[in-house]
Amino acid sequence: MSLRTHTCGELRASHIDQPATLAGWVENRRDHGGVFFIDIRDRYGVTQVVFNPGTDAHKRASEVGPEYCIHVAGMVRRRPDGTVNKERGTGEIEVVAQSLEILNASKTPPFEIVDRIDTAPELRMKYRYLDLRRRPMQRALVARAEFCRALRNHLASQQFVEVETPMLTKATPEGARDYLVPSRVHAGHFYALPQSPQIFKQILMIAGMDRYFQVARCLRDEDLRADRQPEFTQIDLEMSFVEPEDVWAQVEGSISAGFAAAFGVDLQPPFPRIAYKEAMLKYGIDKPDLRFGMQFVDLTDYSKSCNFKVFREAADSAGLVGGGIVRGVNAKGAGGWSRKEIDALSTFAQEHGGKGVAWLRVVESGLDGSIAKFFSDGEKVTIREMLAGQPGDLLLFGAGDETTVNGVMGPLRHHLGDKLGLRKFGTFKCAWIRDFPMFERNTKTGAIEPTNHPFTSPTESDLNRLTEKLQNDPLSLGGRGYDLVMNGWELGSGSIRIHRRDMQERIFEFLGLKREEYEAKFGFLLEALEYGAPPHGGFAYGVDRTIALGLGLDSLRDAVAFPKTSAAADPMTGAPSPVSDEQLRDVHIRTIE
Ligand code: ASP
Repeated sequence: MSLRTHTCGELRASHIDQPATLAGWVENRRDHGGVFFIDIRDRYGVTQVVFNPGTDAHKRASEVGPEYCIHVAGMVRRRPDGTVNKERGTGEIEVVAQSLEILNASKTPPFEIVDRIDTAPELRMKYRYLDLRRRPMQRALVARAEFCRALRNHLASQQFVEVETPMLTKATPEGARDYLVPSRVHAGHFYALPQSPQIFKQILMIAGMDRYFQVARCLRDEDLRADRQPEFTQIDLEMSFVEPEDVWAQVEGSISAGFAAAFGVDLQPPFPRIAYKEAMLKYGIDKPDLRFGMQFVDLTDYSKSCNFKVFREAADSAGLVGGGIVRGVNAKGAGGWSRKEIDALSTFAQEHGGKGVAWLRVVESGLDGSIAKFFSDGEKVTIREMLAGQPGDLLLFGAGDETTVNGVMGPLRHHLGDKLGLRKFGTFKCAWIRDFPMFERNTKTGAIEPTNHPFTSPTESDLNRLTEKLQNDPLSLGGRGYDLVMNGWELGSGSIRIHRRDMQERIFEFLGLKREEYEAKFGFLLEALEYGAPPHGGFAYGVDRTIALGLGLDSLRDAVAFPKTSAAADPMTGAPSPVSDEQLRDVHIRTIE
């Protein structure tokens, strides 16, 4: 027999005058003139239990403290007038205790089990079982499960087959460092934990599975930026005989089903499709937040003949390699910001690789601000018109090489949106960013790298010019990659893949891989491509990020049951930790520190 008749979230007015037994944790105990009130909590809710003085139950209740695990039996009664708690499902009733049993005492928790805490993340992770008792954390785990269940149902209804791909595998190509697992049987050999199921899902297409998906765990050993996890979960899918639109429709359907089930939100598919170039032009970034407008105005052409040298020089080099652009944006209503606030925007620009940000205030008499003196009266009128400036607006400008200007202006637009309260939680705007270039230049190393990964196919229109483009202007080569963005975040990416060996080899070679190298790493895929590989494409997006966005969580960690710190450690289990010499010997490893 169960230890309880009801959960702590279940009792309603309809249960009045019935007996009930509950089990859960002591949320708090209050003493009202000798009568004790205990709020007992479980995953489903909280119920108020009353202990009258002089009873045995009252005596036991005097012994309990916060987070004790208890069992209570009693009678349900209506709460006295004026004490009904409308916030709570069980707020109309209370249970008058006849007995209380302590199932397990609790040490004093290192932090309070309440909805809002600002305890250090490490401490919360060390006592994760206590942190997970908190309602927002339980809500997140439940929402996550709901999301995945709805998504699975949807994809199953579309003939997708859920297939598990191996965890012990070979290096995969997502560009991060691999987590390695030494082999005991093969001395000196290592497995890599998967950075993604990419190659396996392509092989499943060659195997004729047609439609695959997986709620896939991915592991990437990167230097952790704030709020990135070394292991994370992706919804990973792949389809045969498809165009990007087919993939997008399935992703839209499944993520919308997940969002509706987990958060009661209609994402309103189909999502807008925006070409990469258009996104860069209008928003300076390939993951624009579309909850607000504030699109950029391209002033490059105009600036070619303007008086302001900084703008003119940037515009003069437009179109050349590394050439300049001039962009303006109207921060509507920000004209009243203090000098300090505006100066802080320049600091923001510097943090994003720029020198600063030029600005003009729109006032009744025209334009005002540090760069106003560089423009003629006529130019001021034109600029104001181009940016649709009204008194009270703040106009901001970026001029210089394209990468730097976009590097500043894209994030700046989001920052302005934050400051102006335009990025409020509760609205969800998705878009597909399409037509990414095949390659991009790594700004740190200068190397040309695949924008997504080396299995992405070039666009059909560029196929007949492939040799010429690879040789002369690889950065102009169009690719069949796409991203899904939501509210200024990249949720995931995918592409139509290369399905012919010769093409795949050319891309590897272009990327500087020697034949022996790519044979050793990806030879099995190249060989598989020779056995009637069908055209195919797919997509993957992060569950942790999706859940965090859906719930408005501050940190990705709150969407994960057992996350790691920013140093990739787990304070609860103590992982990673040293192992015995014997274990090391088993796997043929000697450490050097
Ligand atoms: N494997 C890719 C990633 O993990 C997604 C894809 O191309 O489908 O980013």
